[in-house]
Amino acid sequence: IAGLRDHLGEPFEVGSKTLRLGLSIGSCRAPEDGKESGVLFQRLESALYSAKRHGRNVSRRFRPALDVQDSPQMALVYSLRDALANGEQLELHYQTQHRVMDGAVVGMEALLRWRHPEHGMVSPGDFIPLAERHGLMGPLGNWVIDEALAQMARWREMGLPQLPVWINISAIQMFQGELEAALASGLARHGIEPAQLGLELTESVLLDERAGDIVPRLEALRAKGHRIAIDDFGMGYSSLSYLKNLPLDKLKLDRAFIHSLPDDPADAAIVSAVLAMARGLALDVVAEGVETRGQLDFLQRAGCRLVQGYLYSRPGPAEVIEAQWQALKTDSAGLML
Ligand code: C2E
Ligand code: CA
Ligand code: CA
Ligand code: CA
Repeated sequence: IAGLRDHLGEPFEVGSKTLRLGLSIGSCRAPEDGKESGVLFQRLESALYSAKRHGRNVSRRFRPALDVQDSPQMALVYSLRDALANGEQLELHYQTQHRVMDGAVVGMEALLRWRHPEHGMVSPGDFIPLAERHGLMGPLGNWVIDEALAQMARWREMGLPQLPVWINISAIQMFQGELEAALASGLARHGIEPAQLGLELTESVLLDERAGDIVPRLEALRAKGHRIAIDDFGMGYSSLSYLKNLPLDKLKLDRAFIHSLPDDPADAAIVSAVLAMARGLALDVVAEGVETRGQLDFLQRAGCRLVQGYLYSRPGPAEVIEAQWQALKTDSAGLML
């Protein structure tokens, strides 16, 4: 192994750059470290992650001290992998998006939920970064695509109004390049039109070089009928020039700018300016995290047409959304779009 590493360690040229490969190795032994392949794989991974943590380019033999008891994070990674394999602990919740003018529901955002058998609901803010670091975001993203489309098909079969559903796309899904294939096969399997499935991407995803030239990919997705939104708009480190170059339909104004409305003059100025700019660029704006009447009133005066937030609804399981729909259908048919 030392020989292999020396060999790999030789610098080599690619174009004008000099590169060097590193090799991290994790190992374990059967039967001392475990008899079942599942256990052995987990221990192998523990050893490998330990090698990477120790500066990479090292070898680590599995030791019981590395086992999951000593690494709650790795324990979570393993149980996420199991959750993905059987799908039972994962669900999508949906949050409605509303037209400011009359409160009508114009669409929904699908938000991933993980019901962990011991920890209860784990927040996506906690497990999505973990999934990204440990190679699970590709499969997780594909699960979200398929589940959202399956749910849309169920709603169609129940005779509920067909509203566009927006899903969140992680950077990894863009780099790995599987996104288009996963979308196409899911849409075909569930008989959903691309125009019904919107894609939310964050600024950092759109600007990340690893995703390659994103413009033609977004153009192709839009040509199929998908709509594209920039998520968390304003929180990235981006310049405004990409708004001119990227094919987009919508900006989602991050809730950090909404929170202190209408009192904070800086936020009020920023929100008004973004709304004016978006109008000029013919982009829709959804204000995120709208929680109070005061925020809504400010947004309405500033010309914001679409909002999402606890003021109207919290994200909830599909059945809760259905119940809202059924009630609306009987109470005030025609309110829904
Ligand atoms: P996000 O895409 O910005 O989603 C909006 C978040 O704001 C959600 O948090 C939602 O529950 C929360 N929210 C909605 N209305 C309000 C409000 O009025 N007030 C406050 N304080 N919060 C509100 P959640 O569900 O915890 O998701 C957190 C983040 O995790 C999402 O932020 C998104 O970046 C990521 N995420 C969620 N589901 C997925 C997914 O399926 N795929 C990927 N790649 N990321 C996801
Ligand atoms: Ca989002
Ligand atoms: Ca957002
Ligand atoms: Ca966010």
